[in-house]
Amino acid sequence: MRKNIVAGNWKMNTTMQEGVALADQIKNLLIKSPNCEVVLCVPFTHLTSIAQTVNGSIIAIGAENCSDKESGAYTGEISAAMVRSTGAKYVIIGHSERRTYYGETAEILKEKVLLALKNDLIPVFCIGEVKEERQADKQNDIVKAQLEKSVFNLSVDDFSKIVFAYEPVWAIGTGLTATPEQAQQMHACIRQLIAEKYGNTIAQNTSILYGGSCNAQNAATLFANHDVDGGLIGSASLKATDFKAIIDAI
Ligand code: PEP
Repeated sequence: MRKNIVAGNWKMNTTMQEGVALADQIKNLLIKSPNCEVVLCVPFTHLTSIAQTVNGSIIAIGAENCSDKESGAYTGEISAAMVRSTGAKYVIIGHSERRTYYGETAEILKEKVLLALKNDLIPVFCIGEVKEERQADKQNDIVKAQLEKSVFNLSVDDFSKIVFAYEPVWAIGTGLTATPEQAQQMHACIRQLIAEKYGNTIAQNTSILYGGSCNAQNAATLFANHDVDGGLIGSASLKATDFKAIIDAI
């Protein structure tokens, strides 16, 4: 059966020392084994130190991005192999902030997913529509195209390793959240698209997380939906007690 996952996305927040302290706080709050996989996706500079901080705990770590190139003369880039060598298990790929601010196209994301998988990283692949697309009732077509262009090329074996995050762009960092009904409808749609392409067993085993202003107050009603398998959490993952409350909501 599919896994429930609560993953934090720290974005470009915290110095390395602050990040280690936050990871330590979260670790200390998780005395009892939670009902889900807990992942901290942190800045590249923090990965090695936080891997040491959470070593021996149930927390897994992930990066927020990786390069679309394997290695070589790409100054400033961080490869999937480098990410993996820190002890990271996950990598976020296709976050709307990367698509919007750094021009990451579907083709670039396709390369990133392939390289992540080749290096034994689990991609947390983000998809979702912008406000105008939702207003025009185009959200299902948008996520379908995002899947087709970046991940529906994968073999069954590779595809079965991916985790998805449905993140309506209008809900990210805005305080607006998809209603539980909107989230369930879209997650069911994504699962149906996966079933049509890869079959029902793969679809039922794929974890689909919700992201977009998910917090300690609304997490339980979002996670209560049958097709919502946890969350990708931005700002609320930067406060240990809030993040713990979201984990408890699963
Ligand atoms: C995100 O950036 O993935 C996210 C969901 O952010 P927030 O929770 O702050 O909306």
